[in-house]
Amino acid sequence: MLCSKCKEKAVFLSPKLCKNHFVDYFEKKVFDTIKKFNLLKKNDKVVVACSGGKDSTTVLYLLKKFHGNVVALAIDEGIRGYRDKTLLDLERFCKKHDIELRVHSFKDEVGKTLDRMLKQKNHPCSICGTFRRYLLNKHAKGFDKIATGHNMDDEAQAVLMNLLKGNTGLLWNSNPITRKVKGFVQKIKPLYFCSEKEVAAYVLLKSFEVGFIECPYMEESFRNKVRDVLNDDELKHKCSKLNILNKNLELLKKLDLKRKDFRYCSDCREPSQSRVCKTCQLIKSFK
Ligand SMILES: [Zn+2]
Ligand SMILES: [Zn+2]
Repeated sequence: MLCSKCKEKAVFLSPKLCKNHFVDYFEKKVFDTIKKFNLLKKNDKVVVACSGGKDSTTVLYLLKKFHGNVVALAIDEGIRGYRDKTLLDLERFCKKHDIELRVHSFKDEVGKTLDRMLKQKNHPCSICGTFRRYLLNKHAKGFDKIATGHNMDDEAQAVLMNLLKGNTGLLWNSNPITRKVKGFVQKIKPLYFCSEKEVAAYVLLKSFEVGFIECPYMEESFRNKVRDVLNDDELKHKCSKLNILNKNLELLKKLDLKRKDFRYCSDCREPSQSRVCKTCQLIKSFK
Protein backbone atom coordinates (compact mmCIF):
# COMPACT_ATOMS: atom_id res chain seq x y z
CA MET A 1 0.00 0.00 0.00
CA LEU A 2 1.39 3.38 -1.01
CA CYS A 3 1.08 6.84 0.51
CA SER A 4 -1.67 8.90 -1.13
CA LYS A 5 0.72 11.88 -1.37
CA CYS A 6 3.95 10.27 -2.59
CA LYS A 7 5.39 6.94 -3.71
CA GLU A 8 6.58 5.84 -0.25
CA LYS A 9 5.14 2.88 1.61
CA ALA A 10 2.09 3.83 3.71
CA VAL A 11 2.56 3.32 7.46
CA PHE A 12 -0.94 4.50 8.34
CA LEU A 13 -4.07 3.32 6.56
CA SER A 14 -6.81 5.81 7.19
CA PRO A 15 -5.73 8.20 5.73
CA LYS A 16 -3.09 6.32 3.71
CA LEU A 17 0.18 8.08 4.50
CA CYS A 18 3.89 7.38 4.67
CA LYS A 19 5.90 8.21 7.78
CA ASN A 20 6.75 11.79 6.84
CA HIS A 21 3.32 12.65 5.52
CA PHE A 22 1.65 11.13 8.56
CA VAL A 23 3.79 13.19 10.94
CA ASP A 24 2.93 16.35 8.95
CA TYR A 25 -0.76 15.45 8.88
CA PHE A 26 -0.86 14.78 12.63
CA GLU A 27 1.00 17.93 13.64
CA LYS A 28 -1.09 20.07 11.32
CA LYS A 29 -4.26 18.68 12.88
CA VAL A 30 -3.05 19.66 16.36
CA PHE A 31 -2.06 23.17 15.25
CA ASP A 32 -5.28 23.70 13.36
CA THR A 33 -7.16 22.81 16.57
CA ILE A 34 -5.05 25.25 18.58
CA LYS A 35 -5.73 28.01 16.05
CA LYS A 36 -9.38 27.34 15.31
CA PHE A 37 -10.42 27.18 18.96
CA ASN A 38 -8.00 29.86 20.07
CA LEU A 39 -6.43 27.56 22.66
CA LEU A 40 -3.33 29.69 23.11
CA LYS A 41 -2.42 33.32 22.98
CA LYS A 42 1.11 34.24 22.02
CA ASN A 43 2.41 35.01 25.49
CA ASP A 44 0.37 32.47 27.45
CA LYS A 45 2.24 30.65 30.18
CA VAL A 46 1.42 27.00 29.72
CA VAL A 47 1.78 24.01 31.98
CA VAL A 48 1.18 20.48 30.66
CA ALA A 49 -0.40 17.89 32.96
CA CYS A 50 1.90 14.94 32.35
CA SER A 51 1.68 11.28 33.25
CA GLY A 52 4.59 9.92 31.24
CA GLY A 53 2.06 8.25 28.92
CA LYS A 54 1.72 8.66 25.16
CA ASP A 55 -0.95 11.38 25.05
CA SER A 56 0.43 13.92 27.52
CA THR A 57 3.99 13.35 26.28
CA THR A 58 2.83 14.17 22.74
CA VAL A 59 1.16 17.37 23.94
CA LEU A 60 4.30 18.32 25.85
CA TYR A 61 6.49 17.78 22.79
CA LEU A 62 4.23 19.66 20.38
CA LEU A 63 3.61 22.64 22.65
CA LYS A 64 7.33 22.92 23.29
CA LYS A 65 7.89 22.80 19.55
CA PHE A 66 5.24 25.32 18.57
CA HIS A 67 4.62 27.50 21.60
CA GLY A 68 8.08 27.51 23.12
CA ASN A 69 8.20 27.79 26.85
CA VAL A 70 6.22 25.03 28.60
CA VAL A 71 6.50 23.41 32.02
CA ALA A 72 5.62 19.78 32.71
CA LEU A 73 3.56 19.14 35.83
CA ALA A 74 3.18 15.60 37.17
CA ILE A 75 1.37 14.17 40.14
CA ASP A 76 2.89 11.18 41.90
CA GLU A 77 -0.07 9.35 43.42
CA GLY A 78 2.19 6.73 44.95
CA ILE A 79 1.28 3.63 42.94
CA ARG A 80 4.21 1.29 43.22
CA GLY A 81 5.24 -0.52 40.06
CA TYR A 82 3.31 1.93 37.89
CA ARG A 83 3.72 5.64 38.55
CA ASP A 84 7.37 5.28 39.60
CA LYS A 85 8.04 3.76 36.17
CA THR A 86 6.08 6.28 34.09
CA LEU A 87 7.69 9.16 36.02
CA LEU A 88 11.13 7.86 35.08
CA ASP A 89 10.10 7.91 31.40
CA LEU A 90 8.85 11.46 31.86
CA GLU A 91 12.03 12.61 33.63
CA ARG A 92 14.16 11.22 30.81
CA PHE A 93 11.95 12.86 28.18
CA CYS A 94 12.05 16.27 29.88
CA LYS A 95 15.81 16.12 30.26
CA LYS A 96 16.27 15.23 26.62
CA HIS A 97 14.00 18.02 25.41
CA ASP A 98 15.14 20.59 27.96
CA ILE A 99 11.76 21.01 29.66
CA GLU A 100 11.28 21.93 33.32
CA LEU A 101 9.49 19.17 35.26
CA ARG A 102 7.63 19.73 38.52
CA VAL A 103 6.40 16.73 40.48
CA HIS A 104 4.02 16.90 43.45
CA SER A 105 3.07 13.83 45.41
CA PHE A 106 -0.03 12.68 47.27
CA LYS A 107 2.30 11.73 50.11
CA ASP A 108 3.60 15.27 50.63
CA GLU A 109 0.41 17.12 49.81
CA VAL A 110 -2.39 15.05 51.25
CA GLY A 111 -0.45 12.91 53.72
CA LYS A 112 -0.52 9.42 52.19
CA THR A 113 0.24 7.53 49.01
CA LEU A 114 -2.72 6.11 47.08
CA ASP A 115 -1.41 2.62 47.84
CA ARG A 116 -1.76 3.37 51.57
CA MET A 117 -5.15 5.08 51.26
CA LEU A 118 -6.52 1.99 49.57
CA LYS A 119 -5.73 -0.08 52.65
CA GLN A 120 -8.43 1.99 54.40
CA LYS A 121 -10.91 2.60 51.59
CA ASN A 122 -12.00 1.36 48.19
CA HIS A 123 -12.91 3.23 44.96
CA PRO A 124 -9.37 4.05 43.80
CA CYS A 125 -10.41 6.06 40.71
CA SER A 126 -12.71 8.38 42.60
CA ILE A 127 -10.17 9.09 45.38
CA CYS A 128 -7.31 9.43 42.93
CA GLY A 129 -9.31 11.64 40.53
CA THR A 130 -10.37 14.03 43.30
CA PHE A 131 -6.83 14.55 44.58
CA ARG A 132 -5.28 14.68 41.10
CA ARG A 133 -7.66 17.36 39.83
CA TYR A 134 -7.17 19.34 43.03
CA LEU A 135 -3.36 19.21 42.93
CA LEU A 136 -3.12 19.91 39.20
CA ASN A 137 -5.30 22.99 39.53
CA LYS A 138 -3.48 24.14 42.67
CA HIS A 139 -0.03 23.88 41.08
CA ALA A 140 -1.16 25.32 37.74
CA LYS A 141 -1.95 28.63 39.46
CA GLY A 142 0.15 31.38 37.96
CA PHE A 143 -0.12 29.80 34.51
CA ASP A 144 -2.64 30.94 31.90
CA LYS A 145 -3.52 27.48 30.60
CA ILE A 146 -3.18 23.88 31.65
CA ALA A 147 -2.91 21.49 28.68
CA THR A 148 -4.03 17.88 28.97
CA GLY A 149 -3.56 14.83 26.76
CA HIS A 150 -7.26 14.02 26.21
CA ASN A 151 -7.72 12.61 22.70
CA MET A 152 -10.76 12.18 20.48
CA ASP A 153 -11.56 8.73 21.88
CA ASP A 154 -11.46 9.98 25.50
CA GLU A 155 -13.66 12.92 24.65
CA ALA A 156 -16.25 11.00 22.59
CA GLN A 157 -16.48 8.45 25.43
CA ALA A 158 -16.97 11.25 27.97
CA VAL A 159 -19.78 12.85 25.93
CA LEU A 160 -21.59 9.55 25.55
CA MET A 161 -21.11 8.63 29.22
CA ASN A 162 -22.44 12.00 30.37
CA LEU A 163 -25.46 11.67 28.09
CA LEU A 164 -26.17 8.13 29.29
CA LYS A 165 -25.92 9.25 32.91
CA GLY A 166 -27.89 12.43 32.32
CA ASN A 167 -25.00 14.64 33.42
CA THR A 168 -25.68 17.26 30.79
CA GLY A 169 -23.98 19.97 32.88
CA LEU A 170 -20.70 18.10 32.45
CA LEU A 171 -20.90 18.24 28.63
CA TRP A 172 -19.14 21.59 28.89
CA ASN A 173 -16.00 19.81 29.96
CA SER A 174 -15.87 18.01 26.59
CA ASN A 175 -14.60 21.05 24.80
CA PRO A 176 -11.16 21.80 23.33
CA ILE A 177 -11.02 24.67 25.85
CA THR A 178 -12.93 24.91 29.12
CA ARG A 179 -14.71 28.08 30.11
CA LYS A 180 -13.24 30.64 32.43
CA VAL A 181 -14.33 30.04 36.01
CA LYS A 182 -12.79 31.95 38.90
CA GLY A 183 -10.39 29.73 40.83
CA PHE A 184 -9.81 27.30 37.95
CA VAL A 185 -6.96 27.48 35.45
CA GLN A 186 -8.43 27.10 31.95
CA LYS A 187 -7.87 23.66 30.45
CA ILE A 188 -6.95 23.10 26.83
CA LYS A 189 -6.95 19.83 24.87
CA PRO A 190 -4.78 20.10 21.74
CA LEU A 191 -5.37 16.40 20.83
CA TYR A 192 -9.16 16.85 20.81
CA PHE A 193 -9.49 15.78 17.15
CA CYS A 194 -6.74 13.13 17.15
CA SER A 195 -7.83 9.53 17.58
CA GLU A 196 -6.15 7.19 20.03
CA LYS A 197 -4.72 5.26 17.06
CA GLU A 198 -3.26 8.40 15.53
CA VAL A 199 -1.54 9.41 18.77
CA ALA A 200 -0.13 5.90 19.21
CA ALA A 201 1.19 5.95 15.63
CA TYR A 202 2.75 9.38 16.12
CA VAL A 203 4.52 8.27 19.31
CA LEU A 204 5.89 5.16 17.59
CA LEU A 205 7.04 7.07 14.51
CA LYS A 206 8.75 9.70 16.66
CA SER A 207 10.30 6.97 18.83
CA PHE A 208 9.21 8.61 22.08
CA GLU A 209 10.13 6.42 25.00
CA VAL A 210 6.81 6.13 26.76
CA GLY A 211 5.39 3.14 28.55
CA PHE A 212 2.11 1.62 27.47
CA ILE A 213 1.42 0.11 30.90
CA GLU A 214 -1.97 0.63 32.50
CA CYS A 215 -2.72 1.65 36.05
CA PRO A 216 -3.17 -1.46 38.21
CA TYR A 217 -6.21 0.10 39.91
CA MET A 218 -8.10 0.77 36.69
CA GLU A 219 -11.78 0.06 37.36
CA GLU A 220 -13.50 1.85 34.54
CA SER A 221 -16.03 -0.80 33.65
CA PHE A 222 -18.64 1.69 32.40
CA ARG A 223 -16.08 3.54 30.31
CA ASN A 224 -14.84 0.22 28.90
CA LYS A 225 -18.34 -0.65 27.73
CA VAL A 226 -18.78 2.75 26.10
CA ARG A 227 -15.33 2.42 24.50
CA ASP A 228 -16.28 -0.95 22.98
CA VAL A 229 -19.57 0.38 21.60
CA LEU A 230 -17.83 3.38 20.04
CA ASN A 231 -14.99 1.33 18.55
CA ASP A 232 -17.51 -1.09 17.10
CA ASP A 233 -19.53 1.67 15.56
CA GLU A 234 -16.45 3.41 14.19
CA LEU A 235 -15.58 0.22 12.27
CA LYS A 236 -18.98 0.12 10.62
CA HIS A 237 -19.64 3.81 10.08
CA LYS A 238 -16.45 5.81 9.90
CA CYS A 239 -16.31 9.10 11.80
CA SER A 240 -18.81 8.31 14.55
CA LYS A 241 -16.45 9.65 17.23
CA LEU A 242 -15.83 12.81 15.27
CA ASN A 243 -19.58 13.20 14.69
CA ILE A 244 -20.26 12.95 18.42
CA LEU A 245 -17.73 15.66 19.18
CA ASN A 246 -18.91 17.98 16.44
CA LYS A 247 -22.55 17.57 17.46
CA ASN A 248 -21.64 18.21 21.08
CA LEU A 249 -19.84 21.42 20.15
CA GLU A 250 -22.82 22.55 18.06
CA LEU A 251 -25.21 21.81 20.90
CA LEU A 252 -23.13 23.65 23.46
CA LYS A 253 -23.14 26.75 21.28
CA LYS A 254 -26.94 26.71 21.10
CA LEU A 255 -27.70 25.65 24.65
CA ASP A 256 -25.27 27.80 26.55
CA LEU A 257 -25.74 25.48 29.51
CA LYS A 258 -25.22 27.41 32.69
CA ARG A 259 -22.45 26.09 34.83
CA LYS A 260 -23.25 26.11 38.52
CA ASP A 261 -21.50 28.84 40.42
CA PHE A 262 -18.76 27.68 42.70
CA ARG A 263 -18.32 28.60 46.30
CA TYR A 264 -14.92 28.52 47.97
CA CYS A 265 -13.86 25.91 50.49
CA SER A 266 -13.71 27.29 54.03
CA ASP A 267 -10.57 25.24 54.74
CA CYS A 268 -8.37 25.53 51.63
CA ARG A 269 -10.10 28.38 49.68
CA GLU A 270 -10.13 26.34 46.46
CA PRO A 271 -13.37 26.33 44.38
CA SER A 272 -15.93 23.96 45.83
CA GLN A 273 -19.58 22.90 45.41
CA SER A 274 -20.05 22.75 49.19
CA ARG A 275 -18.79 24.63 52.26
CA VAL A 276 -15.84 22.25 52.68
CA CYS A 277 -14.49 20.86 49.39
CA LYS A 278 -14.43 17.18 48.51
CA THR A 279 -10.64 17.12 48.77
CA CYS A 280 -10.59 18.48 52.33
CA GLN A 281 -13.41 16.10 53.30
CA LEU A 282 -11.43 13.17 51.91
CA ILE A 283 -8.21 14.22 53.65
CA LYS A 284 -10.07 14.37 56.98
CA SER A 285 -11.59 10.95 56.40
CA PHE A 286 -8.11 9.42 56.18
CA LYS A 287 -6.91 10.87 59.48
ZN1 LIG B 1 4.07 10.24 1.57
ZN1 LIG C 1 -10.81 22.44 50.68
